[in-house]
Amino acid sequence: METAPLETTQAWLKEPKMSYAGGEFIKGGAPLSLKNPANCRDLTKIYEADDRTLALASLSAQNAMRGAWAQITRRERAQALEAIGQLIRDHRSELAILETLANGKLYSESFNDDLPESADVFDYYAGWVDKYYSETCPVERGFLNYTVREPIGVCALIVPWNFPLLLACWKMAPALAMGNTVIVKPAPNTTLTLIRLAELIDTAKILPPGVFNLVLGGAEIGQKLCLDPRIQKVSFTGSSDVAKEVVKASVSQNLKSLTLELGGKSPNIIFADAKDLDWTVRQSFRASFSHKGEKCSEPTRFFVEAPVYKQVCEHMASLAHAVVCGDPFASLSTQGAQCNEAQFEKILRYIEIGKKESCRLLAGGERDRSPDCQDGYFIRPTLFADANNAMRVSQEEIFGPVVVLIPFHDDEEVLAMANQNRYGLAAGLWTRDLSRALRFCQGLESGMVFVNHYGCYDFSSPFGGIKDSGWGKEMGVHALAEYTKLKSVWFKI
Ligand code: NAD
Repeated sequence: METAPLETTQAWLKEPKMSYAGGEFIKGGAPLSLKNPANCRDLTKIYEADDRTLALASLSAQNAMRGAWAQITRRERAQALEAIGQLIRDHRSELAILETLANGKLYSESFNDDLPESADVFDYYAGWVDKYYSETCPVERGFLNYTVREPIGVCALIVPWNFPLLLACWKMAPALAMGNTVIVKPAPNTTLTLIRLAELIDTAKILPPGVFNLVLGGAEIGQKLCLDPRIQKVSFTGSSDVAKEVVKASVSQNLKSLTLELGGKSPNIIFADAKDLDWTVRQSFRASFSHKGEKCSEPTRFFVEAPVYKQVCEHMASLAHAVVCGDPFASLSTQGAQCNEAQFEKILRYIEIGKKESCRLLAGGERDRSPDCQDGYFIRPTLFADANNAMRVSQEEIFGPVVVLIPFHDDEEVLAMANQNRYGLAAGLWTRDLSRALRFCQGLESGMVFVNHYGCYDFSSPFGGIKDSGWGKEMGVHALAEYTKLKSVWFKI
């Protein structure tokens, strides 16, 4: 691991941060203090975008869309994407520090998970710039018909606080690859990596002004983007309830194209015949509790077949007890701080609900009270055993280090329980029975299914949910359809 340039970062944090619109940094409206969730100390200030900044962002994005960005060749566009990926790689430690300071996740998680993927996704989509072909359709009666894929226009990319840089890059890379211009809006408390990326892109002069814009602020700024008729597309990652506000606003002035990546309450089904039960439990535990459980697709409902239920509960509890919450930069820490006070309080409220719903508390159940943790938002990994699928802790998204364990007796029973939920983002199952695995892959109401592993992501495979977990897909060739419109051209011969 590189040595982290903490001092440089601290100097950078002294200056208040601004939005980036039309190739300029703009002070805008009210200042907002950002806190480090690991110790609640002030980090820096950001200025929320005002109406003038928002108008400048969408107007310059529109102008760039019609002008400089439309005129460059595909090869030049691909080179611009590769250059952004390389900038992220060149500044990996610095960006990982900023992500950890603002989000509270372990530095090793920012450095090893978020940063490489944020860089590589630009290379992946740079490769697609000249490979997303149109088709000639076999029409009859003396016509030639072909289709053309065109950029949609100005895209508002609204992202949450759990993977601030990564989720923005997941959207920026395919949007820019297809020739769109973008306005990124991160969650207000986790803006630092994107601000630094804007500075790096600006200094390196990689993109014409207006192609990439960054507006700072919260729900109100997000709503204004959804209402702006100069914007043609909103790609939103966040909670399912806020998504309804996004949809309403996005169709009120003009009919925007929408991609929605939303919440989850994903089942993880462990059968008694799972190949190596200890390995299965370790993998499942990691999938649930890495990034302190603030992951949309993490498994949070464990359905465990009765003969191995006790063994799985005991092993999960021993793994939970071994977790060391603490300073996200310390090499001994294995779990960081929850991202912000509201989320911290929400998780603790759900833990109290679980206790009242008379689950059996196997581990955790409170904030971490050790001296290292008392000033920050640290919560012990929490396991509720003997839950049932109807309880609120089994049905509602908590988005933290909390998992319920529910025993089951047969395949039909567990498939029905797994599907009894508003969400359908991901599902895991662990079994050696191939027929059963295939039957469950068909029957699970979920956008992604993982068999004998959990969370094998690759840029070439679509990511996204069904039911209340969202509309559309990110990643792979599938994301390109989200950022293009299809034109059909008819020639009479
Ligand atoms: P959130 O819905 O509160 O906010 C998400 C983003 O939307 C933020 O930038 C926020 O400022 C903005 N926003 C809030 N209200 C808005 C409004 N009315 N109009 C427009 N924008 C608005 O979500 P969060 O609390 O930041 O993130 C956690 C949620 O995100 C969880 O539900 C989680 O499952 C989901 N998530 C989903 C995925 C996925 O790929 N499916 C990935 C990560 C997180």
